[in-house]
Amino acid sequence: MAYDFDLFVIGAGSGGVRAARFAAGFGAKVAVAESRYLGGTCVNVGCVPKKLLVYGAHVADEMEQASGYGWTLEEGHFDWGTLIANKNREIERLNGIYRNLLVNSGVTLLQGHARITGAHEVEVDGQRYSAANILIATGGWPHVPDIPGKELAITSNEAFYLKELPRRVLVVGGGYIAVEFAGIFQGLGADTSLLYRGDLFLRGFDGSVRTHLKEELEKRGMDLQFNTDIQRIDQQADGSLKATLKDGSERIADCIFYATGRRPMLDDLGLETTGVELDERGYIRVDDHYRTTEASIFALGDVIGRVQLTPVALAEGMAVARHLFKPEQYRAVDYQNIPTAVFSQPPIGTVGLTEEQALQAGHKVQIFESRFRAMKLTLTDVQEKTLMKLVVDADTDKVLGCHMVGPDAGEIIQGLGVALKAGATKQQFDETIGVHPTAAEEFVTMRTAIR
Ligand code: FAD
Ligand code: NDP
Repeated sequence: MAYDFDLFVIGAGSGGVRAARFAAGFGAKVAVAESRYLGGTCVNVGCVPKKLLVYGAHVADEMEQASGYGWTLEEGHFDWGTLIANKNREIERLNGIYRNLLVNSGVTLLQGHARITGAHEVEVDGQRYSAANILIATGGWPHVPDIPGKELAITSNEAFYLKELPRRVLVVGGGYIAVEFAGIFQGLGADTSLLYRGDLFLRGFDGSVRTHLKEELEKRGMDLQFNTDIQRIDQQADGSLKATLKDGSERIADCIFYATGRRPMLDDLGLETTGVELDERGYIRVDDHYRTTEASIFALGDVIGRVQLTPVALAEGMAVARHLFKPEQYRAVDYQNIPTAVFSQPPIGTVGLTEEQALQAGHKVQIFESRFRAMKLTLTDVQEKTLMKLVVDADTDKVLGCHMVGPDAGEIIQGLGVALKAGATKQQFDETIGVHPTAAEEFVTMRTAIR
């Protein structure tokens, strides 16, 4: 049977665009449907605008440190409206680039909500299209727990478009988004509290990293409240918000920001017309080639709930395109040693196993750790410390994990990701010549195991 398209991609986000472009490049006839914004979460309400706001917040640090270097600055004034307008202009530029990338690769771009109507059929705005293969790349959406007053809270989606910087902010959650946005609000001058339900935020990250970041955020004056949660939210007569916590205490804020995880975006997707199954967590179940339980339908990225990071969605997109249209070039995505950064202030960079994971996996480990005040701070009054940590297999000498909290951690950890992928040993780290004077050289000069 002749289909309208070889591949119909639902969602023009990180994974969908990558799969569509590569498939078209391999000669396939491809369509992409996008209901909201070209480039998806990452470009519009994720990585990119978030990083721009982090840069904005970081300017406050630079100004604080300037006097140590002889600069006298006029008192700074921050204007949220200017930052958001400039950010919006950049995002619109990127939307245009994504449009050109797709159109110039020969992909048919359909703007509108796509609904699957059968194993080989998708409907967009009342028009039906047939396809040999369908790819679901619909991403995720913020999840806010069902508490009274939840509609008064915002999520990352809205935070990027706030009209004003709130004066007092409660951030709820202890994952990437909570920690990053708490840093943004605090850095830009809002009175910020972070409320997390567990003992210590960033569950799953290395214990030393979590503790170190906690200490550094407290030094910066951020109010961290652990083992706590909001029970209800009420609007007060003056427009402010009252959060009643589980212990009965109350907090007043101008903005309550929830970052309590994301759910797969499956709204009105028509999965009931197919044999596509969900896993026990509600994400789309796929096999090693991203094929769902309906043979002609594939899924990738946040909607399959493996690792919710843009570079992972990109790699999965490439794998699907190659699997379907260039099998001789197929390479499976390697989910080991994925480097990642949390753009908190200071940021975290991490790759490989945490100390806890290494022990749990049965490794006998040697731990190398270094804490120091970055050279840049020596002429300032800032007392922030950088943490670097290596987790090494004591039997094989292989470096299992590298972790950092400090300026440029994301930039530094990318190179170490290559070293770990290549299976580097501690001896090879030691034999690598440092770049002097940098913070990064500390990773190749840690000589004595602390445990
Ligand atoms: P998405 O990029 O979400 O794209 C899905 C697209 O599908 C969307 O455009 C949506 O509108 C569209 N869509 C959904 N349903 C339909 C439908 N029925 N019809 C048509 N279109 C539809 N990752 C990093 O690696 N680094 C970071 O710094 C980082 N920061 C982040 C910050 C925030 C605040 C958030 C929320 C996420 C961040 N992420 C980051 C995660 C990253 O954004 C996601 O992992 C990535 O975007 C997932 O790509 P995807 O292709 O699966 O989906
Ligand atoms: P995460 O899953 O990272 O964190 C969710 C947080 O919310 C956890 O601390 C969790 O606690 C807490 N939580 C969950 N449910 C509740 C609840 N009902 N009540 C109170 N607290 C709750 O999600 P995020 O929303 O922060 O981010 C989603 C994903 O997006 C990340 O996992 C990451 O993959 C990606 N991302 C990546 C970034 C980057 O690369 N820099 C930046 C931002 C996002 P607990 O730990 O106790 O379960």
